[in-house]
Amino acid sequence: CKPLIMNNSLELPISKETRKFLESKHLLFINGEWRESSSGEIIPVIDPATEEKIAEVQSGTKEDVDHAVKSARDALTGEWSKIPSHDRAQILHRLSDEIEANFSTLSEIEVLDNGMPMQLAQYSIASHGVTLLRYYASWAPKIHGKTIPVSPGGAMNGESLTYTKREPIGVVGAIIPWNSPLIFAILKLAPALAAGCTLVLKPAELTPLTALYFGHLIEKSGIPKGVVNIVTGLGETAGDALAKHKDVDKITFTGSTEVGKKIVSSSVGNLKKVTLELGGKSPVVIFKDADLEKTVPGVARACFFLQGQNCMAGTRVFVHEDIHDELVQGVKEMAESFQIGHGLIESNDFGPLISENQRNRVLKYIKQGMAEGANLVYGGKKINEKGFFIQPTIFTEVTGEMKIAKEEIFGPVLSIEKFGNESLEEIAKRANSTTYGLSGSVWTNDISIGHRMAALIDSGQVSINCHAAVDSAIPFGGNKQSGWGREFGEEGLDSYLKTKATTIMY
Ligand code: NAP
Ligand code: MG
Repeated sequence: CKPLIMNNSLELPISKETRKFLESKHLLFINGEWRESSSGEIIPVIDPATEEKIAEVQSGTKEDVDHAVKSARDALTGEWSKIPSHDRAQILHRLSDEIEANFSTLSEIEVLDNGMPMQLAQYSIASHGVTLLRYYASWAPKIHGKTIPVSPGGAMNGESLTYTKREPIGVVGAIIPWNSPLIFAILKLAPALAAGCTLVLKPAELTPLTALYFGHLIEKSGIPKGVVNIVTGLGETAGDALAKHKDVDKITFTGSTEVGKKIVSSSVGNLKKVTLELGGKSPVVIFKDADLEKTVPGVARACFFLQGQNCMAGTRVFVHEDIHDELVQGVKEMAESFQIGHGLIESNDFGPLISENQRNRVLKYIKQGMAEGANLVYGGKKINEKGFFIQPTIFTEVTGEMKIAKEEIFGPVLSIEKFGNESLEEIAKRANSTTYGLSGSVWTNDISIGHRMAALIDSGQVSINCHAAVDSAIPFGGNKQSGWGREFGEEGLDSYLKTKATTIMY
């Protein structure tokens, strides 16, 4: 690794607007007002690259969640429900304009809160945040039902009319993780509001800041009060209260499979609808005819993007034995070339992990990998005295039984396995041998092998000669224990709507 020059955070290039926001009092956003939590308790917010406290947010309680849900319920049938769909679209476009106008502040706050490199924060806010919001804004006036030619109750043709309407599902509770905080807030809010729903958002306790800044932009955009409510707080209190709330119609959750299962049991009380975007352990299958010039950087990005704290990460490589050594060498050189350090220094492209806990968890997996006999080719160590940094790490000679091959590490740890002359079905069996099924990729110049292998991989998304293609219009979600339902695209909107059928007898 290149030597890391740590910057005292005071010397970091932080704009006046960002400093002003960080120094302001951060409150809960309920019914269009900013207010303190009923607990009076606060949660410190840490910059993971310096370990310094950069802000404090409110620790929302069950009582705060009750207020937020009531305000969302009242707003559902209030002014919001009467706004024509074209105007609803315009409001969402205005919110996108606000994001664009505050792009650099949002990017800086995201980097300070989450630790991601600035290039990535800017790319994701522009390409996913704004684009996604505009994509769903454009859907708002296109939501409609069908007329169905049936003759219920023995009516003759022409004696009745049946039509369906697509209605907002109701009050939505959105619970999101820390790895791409603003994008997940937008990914929940955009289709929910396009559909006409109202929302209570619970950001991750580790990264609440961009959601709160976003709250100020929501105020400016003309969204009626109570339509969007933001309750910062702990998962086991605020998150749990939202998931169990009897007046919430749907929970949209992104996070770990373990907490996803808790959300399912919490939702049983009123049988609210649930969509889950959970963990992954995605395979990357590389055939011997793959173009290594593209494959090597593609594999490095697939695993090390966001320091591996990415649900779609391609963390399990299966490569043909003839090109194994060349691929490993190439990926190792890519790992060596990362500029590791604070994300606000624009040349850095590899940041810290989110927390001390997360780093300890990843280091434990690395130790376990070595103990189980995997070959550590590169990395494996903590770096720097301050900040939760760790080296990108590569293991070869991994077998399917090892923990590092089966469990989601959520850190920059790549496991490489070889294959020889096995059939596609045999390779797929190895690739599919985890409880997850979120993403995956196939690298080959043989179009027929590419499609056949893609069909055999049991996951919600497979890419050929790229990894994890994300676009507002491409449905995304998991098979097996990677989730329920799909986000993005038309299917993502669908999950915020319910169908009502109406029949008229003439
Ligand atoms: P997490 O621990 O599951 O937390 C996710 C959210 O749930 C946080 O807001 C958390 O609050 C809250 N929460 C925790 N316990 C809860 C409970 N009992 N009831 C209600 N809410 C609760 O996940 P994470 O560590 O933040 O994120 C990493 C995980 O997310 C990984 O497994 C990753 O694969 C997954 N992920 C999936 C996708 C996808 O699209 N499939 C995308 C990104 C991440 P606190 O912040 O207070 O804990
Ligand atoms: Mg933070």
